[in-house]
Amino acid sequence: MDVSVTALYSEDAIAERVEALAEEIARSMPKDMVIVALLKGSFVFAADLIRALHRRGARPQIDFMTLASYGSATESCGAVTVFRDLSESVEGREVLLVDDILESGRSLDFALKSLISRGAKEVRVAVLLEKPGKRKIEVKADFVGFVIPDHFVVGYGLDYAGYWRELPYIGIVPAP
Ligand code: 5GP
Ligand code: MG
Repeated sequence: MDVSVTALYSEDAIAERVEALAEEIARSMPKDMVIVALLKGSFVFAADLIRALHRRGARPQIDFMTLASYGSATESCGAVTVFRDLSESVEGREVLLVDDILESGRSLDFALKSLISRGAKEVRVAVLLEKPGKRKIEVKADFVGFVIPDHFVVGYGLDYAGYWRELPYIGIVPAP
């Protein structure tokens, strides 16, 4: 991918923020929570977050859900479907739903409703990034890493057309 990426948050800044989030989450969620990470974008964040939670005494079960939302490389258009579903039951459980970024709110709204409809007792939401002013559906994240300006960001799990997920930091891709 021959585009330039401008750094927004360094590895160190992300690591520090993830530790602080884990501290907040560990204080307000039970040790035996279920963590549901939305793929693919949240896999790096989730991997760091669950280990930071372990260090604070959490002993969660981890599950994944892959959603598909249709659109271009940098803009989603609305329809959300399940591409790969959970493998365990969430019935009666306290769930921490983890996503990379909250933008229109469509993905998280869909995932939240899906978990509630399957009997989750309570669902809290943790996102690494939040873009304010872009919400199409009212969704509140309980734990937010960074509130970012309205740029398209990549790295630390987030992609541009499938690329840049491996970048250790978060950067901005210039608008196409
Ligand atoms: P929402 O459903 O809230 O509109 O968007 C959430 C999903 O859109 C994220 O999980 C992510 O996959 C994608 N997304 C939204 N903004 C960005 C961005 O700035 N960069 C990247 N790489 N993905 C984004
Ligand atoms: Mg994506």
